[in-house]
Amino acid sequence: MQKINVEEQIGHLKNLQAIDSDIFRLRRERAAKPKLIEDLEARRNDEQAAVRGIEEKIKANQVKRKQRELDLQAKEDGVRKLQAQLYQLKTNKEYTTMQQEIEGQKADRSRIEDDILVLMEEADALNKELAKEKALFADAEKHLNEDRKVVEGEISSLDSRISGLESQRAGSAALVDKKVLAHYEKVLSGRDGTAIVAVKDNACQGCFMNLPPQMINEIKMNEKVITCDSCARILYIEKEPDA
Ligand SMILES: [Zn+2]
Repeated sequence: MQKINVEEQIGHLKNLQAIDSDIFRLRRERAAKPKLIEDLEARRNDEQAAVRGIEEKIKANQVKRKQRELDLQAKEDGVRKLQAQLYQLKTNKEYTTMQQEIEGQKADRSRIEDDILVLMEEADALNKELAKEKALFADAEKHLNEDRKVVEGEISSLDSRISGLESQRAGSAALVDKKVLAHYEKVLSGRDGTAIVAVKDNACQGCFMNLPPQMINEIKMNEKVITCDSCARILYIEKEPDA
């Protein structure tokens, strides 16, 4: 088996990790972008639904009012007809009965007029609400269109930075021993983008478990690649600056 230069491999892995950390960070940023547009679309759709809801209410109000206006017309015609008959009546009793009938019809008519007034007030309120809601909808649509452009620009910039890093990565990965690289990549995807970490104060800086002194010595010896027992990340010790 070909012996690898561990110190050199660790150096290559640290370079690779620096690139991979950037790639992971940018990918996370990239992954969050579509949600921003979805939220803006959801707000726009909510406002649009609110506008339609009020428009439906206005339509129902108009239908009701038209019906009440027809009722009113019929009532007025009825009153007029009864009033015309009044003069053809022969007896006082017939006259009194007819007048009572006319008063009853007039009372109905004024109830219908009240209904129409209520419907008109309701229409005024609905029209005000509609104007307010339409302004909110226009604002939501404006935000969506503006921010969508911004976010799409950010996405394409992130995509090109990621693809630049990926080609840089391919060059760095080619320098790493295949077996070591396979382990590194397995840990990288399983451990949120960090596969090689320094040891500080005798602890793995990936999972912060304390490492036994023997393991620290093995890392210092640079004879083989040492991995953390608990998180499987590759370990290295930063060289002390020359005294
Ligand atoms: Zn660890």
